Amino acid sequence: MKEILTFGRYYKKKIKKRVKKIPLGISGFTCPNIDGTVAKGGCSFCENESFSPNLAKNSKKFFLNPDSKENPILQKQLLEVQFQYNATRDRYKSLGYEKFLAYFQAFTNTYAPLDTLKALYEKALIQKDCIGLSIGTRSDSVNEDILNYLKDLDKNYDIWVEYGIQSIFDETLKKINRGHDSKNIETWIKKTKDKGLKVCGHIIFGLPDENQEMMLKTVEKSIEWGIDSIKFHPLYVVKNTMLAVEYKKGEFKPISKELYIDTLVKAIKMLPKDMFVQRVTAGIDDETLLAPNWCKNKNALLKEIREALRKEGYIY
Ligand code: SF4
Repeated sequence: MKEILTFGRYYKKKIKKRVKKIPLGISGFTCPNIDGTVAKGGCSFCENESFSPNLAKNSKKFFLNPDSKENPILQKQLLEVQFQYNATRDRYKSLGYEKFLAYFQAFTNTYAPLDTLKALYEKALIQKDCIGLSIGTRSDSVNEDILNYLKDLDKNYDIWVEYGIQSIFDETLKKINRGHDSKNIETWIKKTKDKGLKVCGHIIFGLPDENQEMMLKTVEKSIEWGIDSIKFHPLYVVKNTMLAVEYKKGEFKPISKELYIDTLVKAIKMLPKDMFVQRVTAGIDDETLLAPNWCKNKNALLKEIREALRKEGYIY
């Protein structure tokens, strides 16, 4: 039996400690695919203020972009970093975790002036037991200055840049209103790797009109581009999204559980030995999920995934 290298196993090997990511969602961050810079409405599966009446009230709030001349909410953001990090750290500590990566997760976490990014990242890094950062972003929202700064931070901390790849097929990226093409992703993953930074790639199975061959091609190319770690996600439909409209009109058919698991197992078999898997699925157990229903129970799904992998000689 082969043990799949997971996030936990990777850090246990690397620093002999139990490490966990602490997710942070900081006010004022948005995305160039939402604020109209590259597109409006966001990715078709993304719940944001363009489609959600609940979130629409946020549209009057202050949002940053890389050209923002000032940041009137910086103090509030710094407090959010401190508060969110420590609240979760305390909980994870009680579960036996020892060290943490501050995970800037919500929206596009490099889409702000560099001064703001520096202040927020460095605030996270001085929190107790923080050994590094994982920064979720888009490949069209980084630049040389940001990467050079992260390269400097990486001398003393573990810095990860997490890019949404989703698919390497431009026709798919267009269908989901991604707002950039596959060349852009390839270019910035390679530039990030050239700086010596570690990259995690996020991939979605079940995107509109993609067959298994295409999904596996995305995995193959992402490996070729040099990603160090990978996350797999089934495409599910939540209310108040463009995808929900397409689904209701019968224009989008979600991936079946069987195809998802089969594709996932095949993808995991393709991964190089030293690439670690940060996620094999995602679940959403609330009333916002429209389809597919099998995404509701993440634990049951994980059990099936583990069994399917075990049959192929892998322990997850
Ligand atoms: S890049 Fe992320 S935050 Fe931006 S629209 Fe797409 S899913 Fe939403």
